[in-house]
Formats: sequence, structure tokens, C-alpha cells
Amino acid sequence: MPRPSLSPIAAGLDETVPFVGPEAIARRTGIALRARIGANESPFGPAPSVLAAMTAAARESWHYGDPENHDLRMAIAAHLDIPFANVIPGEGVDAILGMAVRLFAAPGSTVVTSLGGYPTFNYHIHGYGAQMHTVPYIGDREDVDGLARAARETQAAMVYLANPDNPMGSWWDAASVERFIAAVPETTMIVLDEAYGEFAPPGTLPAFDMDRPNLLRMRTFSKAYGLAGARVGYVFGEARNISAFNRIRNHFGISNVAQAAGIAALADRAYLQQSLTEIRHALDDTAAIATRHGLLPLPTATNFVAVDCGRDGPYAQAILDGLAARGVFVRKPVVTGLNRCIRISAGTDADRALLDQALGEVLAELNR
Ligand SMILES: *Cc1c(COP(=O)(O)O)cnc(C)c1O
Repeated sequence: MPRPSLSPIAAGLDETVPFVGPEAIARRTGIALRARIGANESPFGPAPSVLAAMTAAARESWHYGDPENHDLRMAIAAHLDIPFANVIPGEGVDAILGMAVRLFAAPGSTVVTSLGGYPTFNYHIHGYGAQMHTVPYIGDREDVDGLARAARETQAAMVYLANPDNPMGSWWDAASVERFIAAVPETTMIVLDEAYGEFAPPGTLPAFDMDRPNLLRMRTFSKAYGLAGARVGYVFGEARNISAFNRIRNHFGISNVAQAAGIAALADRAYLQQSLTEIRHALDDTAAIATRHGLLPLPTATNFVAVDCGRDGPYAQAILDGLAARGVFVRKPVVTGLNRCIRISAGTDADRALLDQALGEVLAELNR
């Protein structure tokens, strides 16, 4: 029977699930989820003040939210101390990455990223028909000099750097990031994903340069602010680029509840500090648990710890599977070399007690 054909780009794509969620795993295996420490969410959740604002906004859900996200945009600009014209919110960094690729890449253009880097970016590269060129990590860090070199050699339309990085938790200091930025051709759009920016030690995030036409920086409310399910983040940079997002963005993409959440989250600085302290404590304790079990926690500037399991990818996978069988959800890098690690997000005291016990059982079983 005749049927509509997929567009040429869609016809060439596989159906992809960049992230298999813990819900999907629980549905598939029938094992109840007991510790959700695999998706780098904040189990400490949004502030009580944010929940109150969201509740109030929920009552207004009968009407569309402000399509210009004006008040949220004002609040973010004030928070960053940059002009309104230099920032625009979106439905999380994931959606903003898609818009950025759609704006600056085209079918056939080359986009540079790290081999084993953040998968949503790759998803969008393929989704808009661009070619992906990857640069391996060096010493568990994204290779900033290699990325810049590849951008020059391939005349890349875009280059992506997450700093701090996911999945390894590693980071570069601001001077290195600035060296990277300076080494990328002026015609290559740099995407600097700072989803973990709030967790980074001082001296990690470069100073703002709102005049640079080839730099987009992205941040989110999903991690430090405990709002992953609300879907709100933002991109900031040169005004002309920011304004270009108005060509393609989904104008009602950020619900009025999410807009209210973002505004309230920025207003509650004390809660952010408290969350950061709790997360730091959870990470230190997670690292101590890993060490007690003979594994090697890597340094982190994020809200998760990459734990080197000391052998190859299949061994780390067996540990991950053993944890999953006990209802403890963690994730791991997939690329050879990095895949010797599992990635454990900051959890609650209860999450870490479950992790500790499950890890002991799994390792005993594997090393019998
Ligand atoms: C978690 C994460 C994101 C996703 O952010 P959202 O705002 O929730 O879409 C983006 N980039 C990196 C590197 C992440 O780890």
C-alpha cells in the first residue's frame, strides 16, 4: 500500500534511545528500583520555596505560559549579571543542544566532539544530517587541544566540549578552556556545555565574553537545582546568536510551572549552597565506599563519581549488571578505555547504604 515516505534524513536514522531510564530497566527486568543513582539527578530535589512556586503555577496551567519566557530570562540574566539579550532559556540543555545543531550545522557539515562524550549531542548531529568527527579522551579528560586541532583540520561547523565532563567527571581549568576557545577557528561554533558548572571548583569556568561570535555556553536547572524533571535550562553568548534561537525554538516549550521553578530556584541561593554541600558529602562518602571495596574513585567536579573498577569493560559491566539486579541503578561509559569505570551519582544516605551492601555482594560473587 502506498504510504508517506520519511524525509531523507529521517529515513537514514536508526531509532535511538540515548539513555535507557531506570523505569525502562525496571519494566524490562521486573526488579524494583531501590536506589536511583545513575542519571546525575539531585535526590535532594528542588527547594521548598521552588515547590511552593511550582504549586502556585500549577493552578495557572489552564493557560499557556509566557512564550517569551520573559521573567525567567530576566532572572537568569540577573543571576549571571549579563544583559537580557545575551541569554535565552530552553527545555533543558538537551533541547538547546538540538536547536544549536539545527542552527549551525547542516547535512554534510562536520561536527567535532569527544569519542565517548555526551550522547545527546551526537543524537542531534545525526538527527540533523551532519557528520560526526570524534577525538579520543586523554587521561580520562576530553582532549581540548585535540578537539581544537580537529576543528581546524575538518573546518568543522561546530565543536563540543563539556566542562566539567560527563561521563568521567573530569575538568579543565579556565585557562585551558580559554586556550581551547582561542585555538578553534572563528567559523566553528563552540558549544561549551556547563551542565555541571555549579559543582566545579573555583577557577574552572572561564570569564564571560559576550562579544565572541563563535561561543555558546549552556547551563541547566536539572543538576544542582534538583529540577531534572521540570525541563529548563539556558544558553548564553553573543546577542546575535542568542537571538537566532528565536528562529527555531518551540515557543511554548517551557511550561509555566517550569518557568516558575527556574525563577524561584535562582532566588533561593541558600538552598543551592545547602544542596551543593550535601552533594559534596555524598560524593566523598561514595568515593570512600568504592575505596573500601577495592575500587578507585576518580576525582570529580560534578555530582557523580566515575569509579575505576580496575579491569576491562566487561568486568565493569558485570558490576553494573549485578547492582541493577539488586535494584541499584548506575550507568557507565561505553567507549573502550573509559568503560572500565562505572558512574555513580550523588545519592541520599539510604541510597549509599544500598550501594555499599550491593557492591559488596556483587564483588564477592564476581571474585569468588
Ligand atoms: C545532564 C546533562 C545534560 C542535560 O541537561 P538537561 O538540562 O537536563 O537537558 C546536558 N549535558 C550534560 C553534559 C549532562 O550531563
